[in-house]
Amino acid sequence: MHSDYETIIGLEVHAQLSTRSKMFCACANKYGAEPNTLICPICLGMPGTLPTLNARAVDMAIAFGLAVNAVIQKKSRFYRKQYFYPDLPKGYQITQGPVAVVEGGSLEILGDPAVRSSEGNIQIGIERAHLEEDSGKSTHEAKRSLVDLNRAGVPLLEIVGRPELRSPTEAYNYLKALHRLLTALDICDGNMEEGSFRCDANVSVRPKGQEAFGVRVEIKNLNSFRYVRQALEYEVKRHTELLKAGSTPIQETRGWDTDKGESRIQREKAEAMDYRYFPEPDLPPLEISQTELETIRLSMPELPSAHKKRFTDSYGLTDYEAEMLTQDRAFADYFESVAKLCNNPKQTCNWMLGELSRAINERGGNIKTLGVSAEYLAELISHVDNKTVNLNTAKEAIFPALLAGEGGPREVIEKRGLAQISDTGAVEAIVDSVLTAHPTQVSELRAGNTKLRGFLVGQVMKAGKGKVNPQIVNEILDRKL
Ligand SMILES: [Zn+2]
Repeated sequence: MHSDYETIIGLEVHAQLSTRSKMFCACANKYGAEPNTLICPICLGMPGTLPTLNARAVDMAIAFGLAVNAVIQKKSRFYRKQYFYPDLPKGYQITQGPVAVVEGGSLEILGDPAVRSSEGNIQIGIERAHLEEDSGKSTHEAKRSLVDLNRAGVPLLEIVGRPELRSPTEAYNYLKALHRLLTALDICDGNMEEGSFRCDANVSVRPKGQEAFGVRVEIKNLNSFRYVRQALEYEVKRHTELLKAGSTPIQETRGWDTDKGESRIQREKAEAMDYRYFPEPDLPPLEISQTELETIRLSMPELPSAHKKRFTDSYGLTDYEAEMLTQDRAFADYFESVAKLCNNPKQTCNWMLGELSRAINERGGNIKTLGVSAEYLAELISHVDNKTVNLNTAKEAIFPALLAGEGGPREVIEKRGLAQISDTGAVEAIVDSVLTAHPTQVSELRAGNTKLRGFLVGQVMKAGKGKVNPQIVNEILDRKL
C-alpha cells in the first residue's frame, strides 16, 4: 500500500487493576454483583470519610513500569480532578498530578511492514502511566438514567502511549501487546467486554513530509481489538478523503457505531475543560523505596518480550513467527514440547501456524481441546522428515485422522496403508504407465513446453494415490525426458 499521507495514532488505555479491594476503601473490586451492593461511605464520598491507599494497586503500577523499562518516580502525589456527573458521587476523581508513578518506557510491538522500511519488532514509547479511581456506571433508558456505584473507586492504571503508531494495524498490535503484558503480569484480567481494558484512540493524518501534525480526532471507548482497527481504518480514510478534497477534519470527539460500521461525532472540542486540579489533602505523597522496587522486580514472571526473544534466539524463528506462537501461553508451551521432541522447530512452527491454527479456528476451543498431543504431532513431523510419508499425505490424510481420534500417526499409516512408495522400481513402473498414457503431452514437453512437467508429476502422484516420493518421481522424470 502506497500513500501520499501519513497516519499518526496514539492510544490511551484504562486498565482496571485486579486488586481484591477498591483503591481507597475495603469494598470488593468485583464485576457483575447486584447494583449498588459493593459500596461504603468512603466510595460514596460521604462528608467526613477519609481515603486509605491500596498498597497492592501501587505494587501493580510499579510492576508495569518495570516491565516497560520506565522510570519509577520515587515521589508522586494524588490530585483531585473536579467535574460534575451523576456517577461521580464525590464530585471529583482522585487521580495523579503532573508527576505520574510511571514515566517513560516503551513497549515492543510487531511493526506494520506496509508503513515501515523493514519487517519485525519496533519500540513504541510510553508517555506515562498513572493511578486513578474509576467512576460508577450510568445506564440511560428512555425516561430515566440508572447509576450503579459498584465500580466507583475501582483502581485504574491509565497508560498513555506516545503518538508513534503509524497505521491501524500497528494500533491493533500495540493493544494486543499491552493486553498480553498486563495479563502476563497478572495485574489486569484484560476482560474487554466487562470494561477491564478500555481504549481511547487519538488519530490524525498529514501529507507525507509535513512536520506539523494534522487535526486530531479522539475516538472514545473502543471495547474490542477488532473495533479499534475498524474505527481507525474508517477515520484514516475519512481524514485522507477530506485532505484530498482540500478540506480539513474538525477537532472533535467521536464514538464508534458498531452496527453501522461508522464513527459519529459526540462533541466538538471547544476549550479544554478546567478541572481545577489541586493536591488531594487527605492522602500523603506517594513514596516508593528502592527496596520495594527490588522486591517487585524479583517477583516478576517471564515477560512477553523475553518470551519472544527466547523463541527467535533458540529456535531460529522470525519476529512474526515468535509473536504468533507466544500469543497464548499453552500454545507456546505446546510448540516447545513438539520442537524438542522432533528436533525440527521450523516445521513445528509451520504446522502450528498452519494446520493446527486452522483446526482451532474451525472447531473453536484451543490447543488443549484440539485432542492432538504434542507427542503425536512430533511423531508425524518425524515421519515426514524420515520420508516415511510425504508432507501432502501427512496434511491431507494423517492429520485429519489424528483430529478424529483414530490413534497415533504410526497406527494411522499402517491401518490405511499410507506409507510412501520409495522403492525406485515401483515408482518407475507408475511413471512409465503415465508417460505411455499421455504421449501428446510428453512430446510437447520435449519440444520445450516446460509447464507440462508439473502436469505429468501430478498424474504420477494421482496414479500413486499421493503416496509416491516426489523426489524420486522427479529423479526418474529427469532421467526419462
Ligand atoms: Zn467503598
